Amino acid sequence: MASEPPPAPSAPDPAAKAPSKARSRRRRTIALVLLSIVLLLALDQVGVRELSGRDFPSSDPLALALRARVEQLAAPAWGGRVPGSEGNAAAARSLADALAAANVKPFPSLGGYLAPLSEPTSPLGHNVLGWIPPEGESRGTIVLGAHFDHLGMTDEGLLLGADDNAAAVAVLLGALPSILAQHPRPYGVAVAFFNTEESPYFGTPRQGSQRFVAALPREIGGLSAVRLAVVLDLIGGVVWRPTADTIFACGAEKARGLPAIVDGVREPGLDVRRLGIHAVENIPGYVPQPFSDYDVFRDHGVPFLFLSSGRTPRYHRASDLPETLHYDRMARTSRWIAGLVAALSAAPPALSFDPRGEDFAAERDTLRYAFGAAAKPWTSIPGTSPITWARILGDRSRLEAMAEPGHTWTPEDARAIERASFRLQCLLYRFPVCFTL
Ligand SMILES: [Zn+2]
Repeated sequence: MASEPPPAPSAPDPAAKAPSKARSRRRRTIALVLLSIVLLLALDQVGVRELSGRDFPSSDPLALALRARVEQLAAPAWGGRVPGSEGNAAAARSLADALAAANVKPFPSLGGYLAPLSEPTSPLGHNVLGWIPPEGESRGTIVLGAHFDHLGMTDEGLLLGADDNAAAVAVLLGALPSILAQHPRPYGVAVAFFNTEESPYFGTPRQGSQRFVAALPREIGGLSAVRLAVVLDLIGGVVWRPTADTIFACGAEKARGLPAIVDGVREPGLDVRRLGIHAVENIPGYVPQPFSDYDVFRDHGVPFLFLSSGRTPRYHRASDLPETLHYDRMARTSRWIAGLVAALSAAPPALSFDPRGEDFAAERDTLRYAFGAAAKPWTSIPGTSPITWARILGDRSRLEAMAEPGHTWTPEDARAIERASFRLQCLLYRFPVCFTL
C-alpha cells in the first residue's frame, strides 16, 4: 500500500476551526443519544410499574369467597401443598369438604372424593374428584380440572403457590353453583383437582392428571366419552394493565366446533382471547414443551381448552402470594366457565378432536391487540429494553402484514406467531433474554 508523506505541522489557521466545531457537535450528539438510551432504560424499569392484585381491589361478591379459598390453600401452615406432605393431605381434605358444601357428590364408584394416585398405597396423596351427573340422556362428560399441589420449600424459601395453582382451584369451585343450577344438563361434569402436577411428577405416570386418565371413574364410561377437558393453570396473576382483564384460551383450534363456542361466551369485564397451543408450547429453537394437565387429554385425542392468564415474575417464586392476585377477574372467569358449560349444552353435540387444527387468524388478532399496546412506550410491558422494543416493532409489523386482505398463511407466519407469542410471555414473566428470540 502506497503512503503519502505526513503533512508538516503548521500554525493553527481559521479554517481548522470548522472541523473542531463538527467534532464537538458530534460529541454532543453521541452524548445525547447515550443519555436518551439511559433514560429509556430507566423509564422501562421505573416508568411503568409492575402491577399486582393490590392495584385491583375487589368489588365482585364472588371475589371474597375466592380470596378466602386461595388464602386457605396458600397458607404457610400447609407448607405449599407438597405431594406426600401433611399439608397436601389437608388441602385435599379441604377440597373434598368444599365439593360436599357445594352439593357436588363424589363418583359413586370411588365411594368418596379422594382418588388414590397409586395402589395399594398412595404415599404421594390423592386427586380430589367430584361428579355432577348428566340429566336425561347423556352426551358424555366435560372435565373441569386444575392441579392443587405446589412446590413448598426450595432454596429460595417457602413457595406457597397462590397463582400456581390455588387460584385455579378457587375459580373452578366458584363456577360450581351456576353449573348445578343449569337445566337441562346433558353433559356430566367431572370436577378434578389434580395432585402431583409440579416437578418431578410432570409428564410421568405419577402426574395426577395421567393417573386420572389411567383410572377413569366408571361413571364417565371411557375416555372417548370425555367431550372436552377444560384445564386451568396460572389464572389469577396480573402484571400489565393492557392484559389485566385478559385470559388466554388455548387449544380450541384442535376441536372442530369449539372455537365458535368459546368466542360466543361473553362475560362482562373479561377478555377471553384465543391463542393456539403451538404458540404456548413451541419456544423458538427448543423442543415443544407442554405446560399443564391438558397435555394428557390432548395426547389421548380428547378436545381440550387450556385457560391461563400466563406466567408473571412471581411464577415459582416465594412472592407468589394471595395478595398479588386479581380476584374480580377470577370471579368473572368462574362465571365464564359456567357460561361455557351452558353454551356446550345448548350447542349441537359436535366437538371432535382435530390434531392438525389451526386458527392463525385468531392468534394474529390476540397478538395484534397485545403488541399494539406493547409497542407504545407509555403502555409498554415493564422491563422492555430498547433492543426488545425494536424487536416488538418488528413483530407488530409482521402481524399487521398477516392482517392484509387476501393474505395466505405460510409456515413462516406460524413461526413469527410463535416468536411474538413467546416474546410477549417472556416479557410478562420478566425473563431477561426476551430480545434474543
Ligand atoms: Zn407450577
